Amino acid sequence: MNAPPPVEIRGLRLHNLQDLSLSVPLQSLVAIAGVCGAGKSSLAFDTLFVEGRRRYVEALSTATRQYLDALDRPDVDFMGELPPTVAVRQRFPEVSWRPTVGSVAEVLPVFRSLFAREAELFCPRCQVPLPVTSPHEIATRLRERPGTTRVMIAVPTRPAVSLQALVPSDSDATTSPTPAEWQRQGFSRIIVGEQTRPLAEWSGEDDPAAPPPLIVIDRLTPGQDLARWRESLELAYRVGEGQCLTLSQASDDLPGPRQTIDGQSWLREFWSLHRICETCRAVHPPADPTLFCFNQPRGACPGCRGTGRQAQRRGRGSRSSPPPSTNEESICPECAGQRLRPGSLAWRWGGRSFTDWLSDPIDHFLAHWRERDSQIAQWDAPRQGLASLLVTRLQRLSRLGLGYLPLERPLRTLSAGEAQRVRLAAALTIELVHLLYVLEEPCDGVAASQRPAIIDELRRCRDAGHSVVLIEHDPSLLLGCDHVIELGPGGGADGGRLIYAGTPAGLADVASSPTGAALRTHQSGQSALRPRTGRPPLGWLTLTGLNCETVRNAEIRLPLGGLTVVTGLSGSGKTSLLRGLADRMTTSPAAATVLVDAGSPAQSPAPAPVEVAFIPATPLARTPRVTAAAFLQIAAGIRQLFAQSLEAQGLNLGPGHFSLHAGAPGLCDECQGLGTVLIDLQFLPNLQAGCGACHGRRFRPEVLSVKYRGLSIAEVLALPVREALAFFRGQVRIQRRLKTLLDVGLENLVLGAPAQRLSPGEMVRLRLAEFLSRPHPSGGALVLLDEPTRGLHPVDLARLVRGFDLATAGGHTVVVATHHTDLIQAADWQIDMGPGAGLQGGQIVGMGVPAAAVAGG
Ligand SMILES: [Zn+2]
Ligand SMILES: [Zn+2]
Ligand SMILES: [Zn+2]
Repeated sequence: MNAPPPVEIRGLRLHNLQDLSLSVPLQSLVAIAGVCGAGKSSLAFDTLFVEGRRRYVEALSTATRQYLDALDRPDVDFMGELPPTVAVRQRFPEVSWRPTVGSVAEVLPVFRSLFAREAELFCPRCQVPLPVTSPHEIATRLRERPGTTRVMIAVPTRPAVSLQALVPSDSDATTSPTPAEWQRQGFSRIIVGEQTRPLAEWSGEDDPAAPPPLIVIDRLTPGQDLARWRESLELAYRVGEGQCLTLSQASDDLPGPRQTIDGQSWLREFWSLHRICETCRAVHPPADPTLFCFNQPRGACPGCRGTGRQAQRRGRGSRSSPPPSTNEESICPECAGQRLRPGSLAWRWGGRSFTDWLSDPIDHFLAHWRERDSQIAQWDAPRQGLASLLVTRLQRLSRLGLGYLPLERPLRTLSAGEAQRVRLAAALTIELVHLLYVLEEPCDGVAASQRPAIIDELRRCRDAGHSVVLIEHDPSLLLGCDHVIELGPGGGADGGRLIYAGTPAGLADVASSPTGAALRTHQSGQSALRPRTGRPPLGWLTLTGLNCETVRNAEIRLPLGGLTVVTGLSGSGKTSLLRGLADRMTTSPAAATVLVDAGSPAQSPAPAPVEVAFIPATPLARTPRVTAAAFLQIAAGIRQLFAQSLEAQGLNLGPGHFSLHAGAPGLCDECQGLGTVLIDLQFLPNLQAGCGACHGRRFRPEVLSVKYRGLSIAEVLALPVREALAFFRGQVRIQRRLKTLLDVGLENLVLGAPAQRLSPGEMVRLRLAEFLSRPHPSGGALVLLDEPTRGLHPVDLARLVRGFDLATAGGHTVVVATHHTDLIQAADWQIDMGPGAGLQGGQIVGMGVPAAAVAGG
């Protein structure tokens, strides 16, 4: 296949990209590299993805074209042909319990519609099958059943369930017909108790406590023709409100209830057109896909509205609350976490309910599916098509190394790497030729051994004619790409320039490239980080009986005032162990299971940490109103400085006028301080466009006219940390807090940067800086980080480790879940989880100083 010409980009100016010109090859695997803030995301997502989507929308619909002029277009002199684009990024962790592996990967809609067609209902109370049986099916079954000699078709004088009574009507429909009315319909015999009598002799007496008398509709033998059988059964259904009985003189070995009539034993069978249970008299609706949908009132458990969880209890006032845990007590007692109504759970296919299918790991699901191959082979073409779609999607999840996950697992309980691969699987289901996929570190959070499978999947995608652009740092993965584009050399104002474009092999020869330097280090087999100095720990913390999710009864020991790494395959229970640790330390720090002993015989035991700080690598907020300055708690101080100026006092402006909070009085009227406006495209996701009134400055003109040391509030919020530190000379509190940002290498971060726009690497360091800048109780804190190496260039990793060094030097105990080999080697202590993933994980397979734990585990 001849690849189409590359996408030419000339004169691109966006955020910090400085008049960038480059070409992006199509139908290849292209990596964009560079340190934090170099402009990778501006090129990959804000240019390639946004422009590709804009052109696709333009081609799709003329009705939406009128809105497109207002769209935030990248400022570019020329940009060549682009295929439609799909972006996969995972910046916000799920907060809802609703999205599951199966729903996000687009497996559930397919399985639901097949299950609704194929499943059989069992009475939820009596556990008997409740098939819908047509007269033809009953007739065929009874005539062909060996050992049957005579059959009576009957209907009870009172139906098991009066369907007319379920529907309100004017006539008194609940009264049964009188003997005369039955006779008028042409019937002549009735079974009362154990005897058959002529209908004419029956007075209409009926003991409500006993089973109702039976009107005999017809008496048949198997030899009589099928048409007669069907006619009689149709008549029985008509007079019996869709319910009837057959009484068969049949061989004794047939299972089922028997009834004695005129001294002989008859097999008694109840049939219905409406899934009626004769015993408990419940009527069940027919199955349709909504019955198996957690998000629909028809299907969802009323106790938890389909989340499977009870309302969350509030955390215990700790500043950084630990991540959500899935302790047993939070599971909905009504459905036992199955999320569906009892009526939905009563449907089974292959003996398994809908949630039985979903609770199996994907690989087991596929095995059960194959057991039904012969049944599936009988399906019609549309259903076979759905079945093969389902299997393709499940196999892709399995190839992406997720075969151990059950489809029902909520996305919010997955690690970042697992969640992103589920989203990747979903993106790969789009059936369009020649797409451009824009991905953010698809192997993030994935252990080295699992990475080749993911790269293989991306190659398969490229070989199918798609183009793949990924933001990537990992030297081993860069070497597997077709083309590398490096931006840099630094972040912010120091970035945004093209450092390199070409084959990965050539990058190592570029002396000025930070990524090239990392490649050279990688190829020489060295670590990018210097080993720690081997400071003795302040003491040892021992915790026993740790339980959380897959982790059961674990015992761990870790050095106080040290850096501990938790390692293992993706899904081996690293995150669960951190949660268990956070739960234990917040709920029972004084319990006997938390032991502290001295680091050396000469020392006295250090106090146990009383504070738990969980530092997630997730966004600070979902709103652009939260800025880096606000998160660092210097925004209020800055507002105060502006409000104190003579200009502000002359204009009657207070501190509130310089605030970005929703509804604050100084905000731009047009965009309410967001700097952008949303455009509703009706059939497509909303798009953002720059605000025409304030041009992104976010405040009203009179607020912007107020100057502090010559700069407006918008200009101050545009200062990078390095310049802000000098600008706020004399403001000790603001300067002290800014200094911690410098310490963790965030000197290029802009004060007013919306929290949403920060890269994961910047967010985790901003959180760490905020932690370091506030006071802590003696004994220090237990600082927990879940995969903070996401999105980190080796240069930025070294800066993050500098932040860890500051924390441990301050007496804090740092525990980091990671797969990053360099970080593991730089740690004081390692806890290795395994042996496998999912149910095969959750155990501690090694503990010790890193090299020893790796060798032993
Ligand atoms: Zn029942
Ligand atoms: Zn429930
Ligand atoms: Zn505005």
